[in-house]
Amino acid sequence: MKKKVSRQRRWQIAQVKKGRCAICGQKRKNYRHFCDACQTKHRELKRRLARQKAAAARKAARKKRAAKG
Ligand SMILES: [Zn+2]
Repeated sequence: MKKKVSRQRRWQIAQVKKGRCAICGQKRKNYRHFCDACQTKHRELKRRLARQKAAAARKAARKKRAAKG
């Protein structure tokens, strides 16, 4: 079965091919998919999610230790 690619995803791929940002469509130069502003946003988002995930893992580990005694 062929995977369906969304209209948005096709647009993003086309932008990247044209040398433009996959989010806002402006010209990009320093990064592979995004312009500088979008790359910064993306980096901060990923960082925040990673920190949240790590914090949740730490919390779960602490709970486990506390339950053991
Ligand atoms: Zn952008």
